[in-house]
Amino acid sequence: MSFTYFDHNATSPLDAGVLEAMLPFLRDQYGNASSRHDLGITARRAIDQARERVAALVNVRPSQVVFTSGGTESNNLFIKGAAEILKPSQIVISAIEHPCVAKPAAALARKGWAVRRLAVTGAGKVDLHDVDVALQTPTGIVSVMLANNETGVIQPVAEIAEHARAAKAWMHTDAVQALGKIEVDFEALNVHAMTLSAHKIYGPKGAGALIVDKRIELAPLIAGGGHEHGMRSGTENVPAIVGFGAAAELAASRLSELALRMEKLRARVEQGLTQMGAVLFGAQATRVPNTSYFAFRGIDGETLIIELDKLGFGVAAGAACSSANPEPSATLLAMGIEPEIARGAVRFSLGSSNTAQQVDEYLKAVKLVVSRLKNLTAMAV
Ligand code: PLP
Repeated sequence: MSFTYFDHNATSPLDAGVLEAMLPFLRDQYGNASSRHDLGITARRAIDQARERVAALVNVRPSQVVFTSGGTESNNLFIKGAAEILKPSQIVISAIEHPCVAKPAAALARKGWAVRRLAVTGAGKVDLHDVDVALQTPTGIVSVMLANNETGVIQPVAEIAEHARAAKAWMHTDAVQALGKIEVDFEALNVHAMTLSAHKIYGPKGAGALIVDKRIELAPLIAGGGHEHGMRSGTENVPAIVGFGAAAELAASRLSELALRMEKLRARVEQGLTQMGAVLFGAQATRVPNTSYFAFRGIDGETLIIELDKLGFGVAAGAACSSANPEPSATLLAMGIEPEIARGAVRFSLGSSNTAQQVDEYLKAVKLVVSRLKNLTAMAV
């Protein structure tokens, strides 16, 4: 049986061209980029080129790119690295941050920081008025994601950054779920730091970056040989970094074409889902074009995804990273969605190889599964 993947917010397949770019560095070009001989110089040049490509995608200078092992490390590096430098005050995050922002932020409470979570509207968006209220208390750090991993809702990061800067706070955004889906311009967002990850943009897992405004100083998480301008020691993962660079170049080359295609496919799937009676989450707000988040009243999301998997479709219940957690999605609860409905949440996220035919087949499968599950529930009553 064929398998159709609609879970690109969890991870994306490695693009064939990206793999091609990586292969030499997994085979013959095994040099350590710190070595002065030919193999080392080749590795260093490859890293430099990747750095230029990632920088170009987000409109920064290459020297602002710190390569890390991924989004999780970049978020930890910013929050812990900033907290090490700044005097303890308040850290402000949104209530819908990924755990790799929410947890390091919460941990700052043990170091004398006050941790404040901004509520979101029913459409899943941070309200600027709440930002202003929060910033009346002296604040050192603000971190609000650019696009939410579950709903896809785009947050008003540039506006929040303006308020944060006026309050003399350092502003960070986790742009992992926005990259490759909408334009992500570090300068225009006006932030001090920004997190990226390669495996959500058809690059390899285990590679990411923290983009940093050189006017702020962060303490490194990992000390050692002084790699990445002392911000992240450890021999560079050259194949993964090269793959990240190739994925960044690919993302830049097809951004608007891909966004348009995703938008059309999402409209198609959401039309079908609403006709079947699904409730859509975050659809009133501006979203990244590939993501749709929905539920059917009375149908458990976990059961729905298991049944869809049996029919050959890969979708997610809530956030993939917390699928071991049976609690309803914290993002949906923060949006004021009733727990009964939130338990039914299914996240559908499109990628570059999905087609209209796949979407139609998926809708047929959802219809079949939903009517089966509704019959079972009716029989049980
Ligand atoms: N931030 C967001 C919004 C994410 O969705 C994810 C991954 O799901 C991460 C950070 C973590 O990135 P990585 O998997 O590269 O550690």
